[in-house]
Amino acid sequence: MAAADDKNVRDAPSSAVKKLEAAIGKENVKTSKMERLLYSHDLAPLPNVAQLGFMNVPDIVVRPRSTADVQRIVKIANEEGVPIVPRGASTWGLGGSMPVFGGIVIDMAGVMNKVIDIDVDNLCCTVEAGADYKKVYDACMAKGLILGSYPSSFPSATIGGWIAKDGVGVGSYKYGGPGLNLRSMEVVMPDGSISQTGFRDVADNSAGYNLNALQVGAEGTLGVITKVTLKLHPFGGTLKNVSYSFDKLQDISKPLMELCRSQVIPLHIGFSDGRHFEYLRKAGKHAPEVGTILNIAFDGSKENVERDEAAVDAIMAKHGGKKMAPEVGQHEWDERCYEFRSREVGMGCIPGEVVVRLKDFEPVADACYRLLNEFKMDGAIIGIMCDRNTVMFMPYYFFNPDSLLQMTSYAYNKKTSDISYEYGGRPLGFGAFFASNLEIVRGKDNVRQMKAIKSALDENEIMNPGKLLEMKTRYGISLSSKLFELAMDAAGIAKKALPRQHEFDERAEDYADERKRKGTGGHQH
Ligand SMILES: Cc1cc2nc3c(=O)[nH]c(=O)nc-3n(C[C@H](O)[C@H](O)[C@H](O)COP(=O)(O)OP(=O)(O)OC[C@H]3O[C@@H](n4cnc5c(N)ncnc54)[C@H](O)[C@@H]3O)c2cc1C
Repeated sequence: MAAADDKNVRDAPSSAVKKLEAAIGKENVKTSKMERLLYSHDLAPLPNVAQLGFMNVPDIVVRPRSTADVQRIVKIANEEGVPIVPRGASTWGLGGSMPVFGGIVIDMAGVMNKVIDIDVDNLCCTVEAGADYKKVYDACMAKGLILGSYPSSFPSATIGGWIAKDGVGVGSYKYGGPGLNLRSMEVVMPDGSISQTGFRDVADNSAGYNLNALQVGAEGTLGVITKVTLKLHPFGGTLKNVSYSFDKLQDISKPLMELCRSQVIPLHIGFSDGRHFEYLRKAGKHAPEVGTILNIAFDGSKENVERDEAAVDAIMAKHGGKKMAPEVGQHEWDERCYEFRSREVGMGCIPGEVVVRLKDFEPVADACYRLLNEFKMDGAIIGIMCDRNTVMFMPYYFFNPDSLLQMTSYAYNKKTSDISYEYGGRPLGFGAFFASNLEIVRGKDNVRQMKAIKSALDENEIMNPGKLLEMKTRYGISLSSKLFELAMDAAGIAKKALPRQHEFDERAEDYADERKRKGTGGHQH
């Protein structure tokens, strides 16, 4: 796989390095080429050609140990005019934690990852922003309290990263996304001051501008989140996932509509199509042979869960859903955070994330499949319900990141965004790669207002520049949404013209042979 080119690694600015070493300790300032290359991308290394656009190798990587360290780093960055990039576990795929202009990457997951306090009396916990969701979830569960929601990348994704990206995930249906599960945050602002965004023990309504909301979804452009106080919910003692099979994805549209209009509020609703399970089986994983599975997870007391399950059983049966064995439901729940195991065959996998109205489920599913076929791609559709009216489709496809031609596959993400616009929805998130979408999603006036907020708070433009608000190259040139669209349309035309690749199947066969040789054949979890 291509790693960032060594030629793109420039010398770290010596005066900034000296100041940082004096301020936070030499051992917390990393300038070796190898280390910096590791921080030059998020989900997957970029092909070398991307370096024409992005100075994606940081000049310096720092690991702060405290909020005061973060303040010192921000102060030095302002003095030296060096950009800062906050980084969690780097599991997001749109280049949010990848530098565009080099600068200082602040590794929040390195050391600032502690659970500080779980306050059972006030139903909240306070954690450092670099703590991962699983660690926090487990610590809270041990005290009989449940985190409202978390991303399916929760074994590594950080609390600060998911809030900054404002995702949707497991539990969002019942408890809302990261923003709705916040009491307060401590944020080091671009000028080095500290913002306490809310209130630790009570809700923040009727308290002036909502500063929690300002930081949620800001993608690290308005400050570095250092501590977070999250709301907790009493755990009723029972957590159960039930799986229902259907012939095809489109068949779940009507039962979903009936369920989402009923009084039953499950913890989580997720779905995966038959292709998803087929790829897993080809990768040697244990996966059911069905057209589609709809997973409904319940939490609460045993009696409430039984009552809700019976109500959902009736809805599903009415629409032809077959209830699967309890072991399947449990297996699907255990796998909820490992959707992309089929990548083990050695392929890259890119998910698109779009939200649309539930009433448009069928035409959007049809359109996503049509696109996969036109683009001659190996791919599948999974997704979740975000709330009663919003469904998130996550169509994903496999691709070979070593092949320049396959980079044309990125056009699929652009085209799925177009489908979502057509149905009154939108794609999720911007980062560095889809920052040009902001104007299409929010309109010119809103973007102007957002830029005014950014300029007022970040006068020196040091906080994660080149993200969210506009797509910029390393030379500071902005790429307009029109130019981005043209480039993606051209890539789409090229992709349609290219012959079909059978790379997933080929690699899956090689992978199966290799497992047989090693004696690890058979289906695994
Ligand atoms: C297998 C898999 C499953 C996934 N499932 C989901 C899912 O269910 N739902 C979902 O929403 N996403 C999902 N994602 C995407 C991603 O994992 C999440 O968005 C995750 O929350 C990102 O957290 P992170 O710590 O990796 O952040 P990073 O990728 O490191 O950063 C994300 C953004 O947040 C900013 N940031 C990070 N930390 C801070 C901080 N302390 N202060 C300010 N800004 C900060 C970064 O600059 C960047 O812009 C998935 C990804 C994978 C690989």
